Amino acid sequence: MRSVDVHRSAALALGAPLPPVIVPLLESVGCVLAEEVTAAWPLPSFDNTSMDGYAVRAGDLAGASESTPVTLRVIDDVAAGHLPSRAVEPGCAVRIMTGARMPQGADAVVPVEWTDAGTDVVSSARGPELGAHVRLRGEDVREGDALIPAGTVVTSRQIALLAAAGRGEVSVHPRPRVAVLSTGDELVEPGQPLDEGRIADSNSFMLMAAVLEAGGVPHRAGPVPDDEDALRIALEREAARSDLIISTGGVSMGAYDTVKAVLSQTGSVDFVKVAMQPGMPQGLGRVGSVPIITLPGNPVSAYVSFEIFVRPLIRRLRGCAWVDRARVDAVCGRAFTSPAGKTQFARVTIEADDRGVIAFPEGAQGSHILGGLARAHALAVIPPEVTRVDEGDPRGLIDLSPDD
Ligand code: AMP
Ligand code: MG
Repeated sequence: MRSVDVHRSAALALGAPLPPVIVPLLESVGCVLAEEVTAAWPLPSFDNTSMDGYAVRAGDLAGASESTPVTLRVIDDVAAGHLPSRAVEPGCAVRIMTGARMPQGADAVVPVEWTDAGTDVVSSARGPELGAHVRLRGEDVREGDALIPAGTVVTSRQIALLAAAGRGEVSVHPRPRVAVLSTGDELVEPGQPLDEGRIADSNSFMLMAAVLEAGGVPHRAGPVPDDEDALRIALEREAARSDLIISTGGVSMGAYDTVKAVLSQTGSVDFVKVAMQPGMPQGLGRVGSVPIITLPGNPVSAYVSFEIFVRPLIRRLRGCAWVDRARVDAVCGRAFTSPAGKTQFARVTIEADDRGVIAFPEGAQGSHILGGLARAHALAVIPPEVTRVDEGDPRGLIDLSPDD
């Protein structure tokens, strides 16, 4: 049997970051930057006011107080997006709105709230410090500064900086197109009535969502019946339009395990047993040049296998700097057993108290128990040599909360 780590490395080795493309700014959301973006100009790019008020020479107002207000002559009026037409001479002020360029000669801004808001002359009972309420050119970003390193996932915050720095387009690794192909004669569309012996195709919906959550672009390519010709046709079609194919079902030892039957003939997919629970039967390789990971059919096995093998590969194709989920240190809240010789990925709920994070195993751990999977917050990773976890034992958890 193959270890989880060996199979995971084999899965990661199937792909590399997809070649960069240049996209309009908004299309880069959720993609990974393929370039280091540098500032073409400083931010702010000119000295401007952070308050509505009056641009003044601070020295003119040095003695201003309630009993001795200072009156200045208002010589100009500047709104954001417009330029001052006059320099501020001693005894003068320029009425100015937030974001407008500072006029020559002024070295501070008096907020309108401190004044009588006059338009010909203005009186202030308070003087600003030198430089008060002035946003200086380059105080945020200097020209030529590295704004965002390559490898960063673009979110709203990076978009703001890119837009401010004047980038209308940016070079990113595209999000991988992932075909989700479920197999099985028993599968029915969710929402349709179930004949005796049939079940809803929950896996392909789960995996579509999981691909989206992992930052891929999924398309649903099933369900395909347990028929070798139908599967061959589906695989060929998906290989032509995908960066990665994931299938579920048909990889164990049964008589109608078509995925294994069809892909074993091509010789480019290895079917192996991985020492894990759930998720022992696994396969990976290529259809033509396109990577494929064949997941087991049992829903919890399919989910855990996706987490451990597929999600890291999707993140690698995306060009992410790191491919793993955050690990959380926890202690076990209730004893449970684990199979010898296999890594167990136990579904756990978590609570926090003064001991830190406490993990409670979800009751039944069978590979068909979808209720427990939906309730779980995390997977507790129990190594092959551990057969019993006691209350209070420290455990590393894979946190399943959504991230970037
Ligand atoms: P298989 O590996 O094809 O033998 O499937 C193992 C188990 O998973 C069987 O109980 C299947 O009915 C179930 N299963 C397979 N594919 C799906 C699917 N797409 N959605 C839900 N359950 C499935
Ligand atoms: Mg099947």
